[in-house]
Parts: sequence; C-alpha cells; structure tokens
Amino acid sequence: MPTLVRPRRSGPLPKPPTTAVTAGRRSEWTGHAVNPPVWRASTILYDDVAALKAGVKTNADGEWFYGRRGTPTQWSLAEAITALDPAAHATMLYPSGAAAVAGALLAVLKPGDHLLMVDSTYDPTRRLCDAYLAQRGVETSYYDPMAGAGIEALLRPNTRALFMESPGSLTFEVQDVPAIVAVARARGITTLIDNTWATPLYYPTASMGVDLTICAVTKYIAGHSDVMMGSVSALEPHWVNLRTTAQVLGNAVSPDDAYLAARGLRTLALRLKQQGQTALAVAHWLAKHPRVARVLHPAFADCPGHDAYARDFLAPGGLFGFMLKDGGTDAVIDALTLFGIGYSWGGYESLALPTEPSRCRSATRWDGGTVIRLSIGLEDECDLIADIDRALSQV
Ligand SMILES: *Cc1c(COP(=O)(O)O)cnc(C)c1O
Repeated sequence: MPTLVRPRRSGPLPKPPTTAVTAGRRSEWTGHAVNPPVWRASTILYDDVAALKAGVKTNADGEWFYGRRGTPTQWSLAEAITALDPAAHATMLYPSGAAAVAGALLAVLKPGDHLLMVDSTYDPTRRLCDAYLAQRGVETSYYDPMAGAGIEALLRPNTRALFMESPGSLTFEVQDVPAIVAVARARGITTLIDNTWATPLYYPTASMGVDLTICAVTKYIAGHSDVMMGSVSALEPHWVNLRTTAQVLGNAVSPDDAYLAARGLRTLALRLKQQGQTALAVAHWLAKHPRVARVLHPAFADCPGHDAYARDFLAPGGLFGFMLKDGGTDAVIDALTLFGIGYSWGGYESLALPTEPSRCRSATRWDGGTVIRLSIGLEDECDLIADIDRALSQV
C-alpha cells in the first residue's frame, strides 16, 4: 500500500543531485514512463460500495479517495520534496508559498498562543500575523534575526511556535538555526522555517531539527516562473496534525501545476548551483564598484550570520541585494536590459527589484535605505555583469 511518507532505504544517502533526479518516481505512479502522468480527477470511482466504505476507513496518504487528496501526480511531487532532506518525514502541498506559511502556522497555533517571528521575515508573512492571527487571539512578537540562543529571553509561558527565515527576506541575515532549535526543543516549542532561498537540497533544515520546513515552490523548485505552489515538510511527530489541518482547510494543488513543479525539481540541483555561482560572481563584481555602498549576500564576511551560513549551507541561492552610495536606484533598474522588473524570484531568468526593508521592520532598524534585489538566472555571468556595468555608468 503506498503512503506519502518517506520510503525506507538502505545504504549510503545519495548526494543532492541524485536525489533530485530519482525521488518520487515509484513505478506504481509512473507506469512504464519516466514521469507520472497528469491525472486530472475530482471523482475517484470505486468498484463497489464495500470498496467505497473501506476507502473512508483507510483515508491513508497515497490512497485513491477523492481529488482533493491528490493523485499520483501530486503524491510523486510531495514525496520528491520530502526526499530533499533526509530527516523530513512527509510533505503537504499548498496552492502558493503564502498558503504554505499560513497552513503551517494555522496547524500549530490556537487562540491564546504567542508566536515569535523573525523580524526579517517575508512581508506577507508579517501581514498574516498582524492582520489575521492577531484578530484570532494569537499574539506575535518579532525578534532580531541575530538572536541565536539569546532567543530564550524572549520566550513567554504561552510561546507556542518560533518562526525563522534564513537568510532573511530583503536583507539576508543568516540565523543560528541549531542554537534556536535547541532552545525551543527544551521548552516543547514548535519550530518553523521559511527555507525558500537555498531549498532543503542545500540547506537541510529538517536535519537541523526544525519541525516544519516551508518552501515557496513557486521560486527555485518550480524554477520557470510559471507555477504558484508551496510546500511544508514535517518531522514525524508533526505530520498528522499538519496533514489534517491542510485537509480541513481544503488545500489542493492542480495536477498540471504538480507536473510542472516536478519537472522543475528534476533540474533543481543544477540550476540552483549555477545560479548561486553566477550570483556570487556578480556580487563580488558589484562589491568592487565605486558606486556600490554595500552588497548583502550571506557568503560575504560582513553579512550578519555569515559564520552560520558557512557552517550550515551546502551551496548559496542566487538571490542577493546591494545598495548604491548615491541613489538613483529606480533609474539604474530601468536601464538594465537583461533583468526583468517584477515580483517573485528563483526562475531561470534574471530579475531586479527595488525594495525598502525599513518598511518591514519592527524589532530592529534598517538604516541602509533602498536595496536593489537581484534574482540571478541562467544567463551568462559576463553578459549580466556587462549589463549592470552599462546601467551604472549610463545613469
Ligand atoms: C515568494 C515567497 C513566499 C511566498 O510564495 P508565493 O508562492 O509567492 O505565495 C514565501 N516566502 C518567501 C521567502 C518568498 O520569497
């Protein structure tokens, strides 16, 4: 009987690129093809009433039941995302990364609870806490991304969950995840992390003990700027609660989107490695430019949390920021020709975006002004650098 939880394996763990290629491709899901077909289904037909009744009783993951519970197209993708981190038990899929953040928090929190949220969190996550959870009796307080083990001083008797994002959105501070997990574990507090930047492939946060790992699949995993999706991968003790909550909230993803996301995942290891390398090259070039005030990239020694980055990440993501000494950011972005202007990131094509981190801070201050955020794609690094060089000298 197939289930969605991690299959048992023996022998040494495969390396990340091997996992990205092999994971989730069970023959009972793919048939004789390499990939599982796109099963479009709402109704699942049963042989007889007895089988229908038995299905209600089993209600197991990976069992045909009703379209909202998925088909092999979604099960295969969920299993493949689980496999990206050897410690993850199973994965729920959501219709966007924002829905995954909400699904994970709603699974954990109830009225009267206190949530500790990192101050460098993705802005829509902050809005979920301040505009939605607050009205339903969950109090959020924000903490300095550099808190580390010092987070202990911020715990309250009703602290139920501790949310991390590493590196932080817009400003790229890297958190000391093992130190924070140790504090939370000792108090029975559930830990969550938004792990969209390096993905579990290059930042295995379940293996670091984080209970719920969230990814905006929209970004690197799908990787082609054509899918909205999110995932939450759970350690075993948190799985049943996460799954039940996602089901009662009616979360489901379309098989077509699951197919596209799985197709992206097969090349994730290569894309992320190349985009991370190109991003580093562009970042180092920018750091030497006379108009650049500062580069915000976890691999740089002056990035807050750089030591944790060097210790915990297997490879960098391709998203980073930089600031100009003399302003003119909008005009510089407009002058770029190889960088699209738009939200999201993690696709195969490069994007540039002006961001204002000072607007999304409450526990810490951001005095660095406007940050230009670059999402580096798969274009050649020399072409990207030449484009930025021209834009900077032209404006
Ligand atoms: C984009 C993003 C999300 C939300 O994902 P969507 O699929 O756009 O809803 C969550 N977290 C981070 C860090 C993101 O960059």
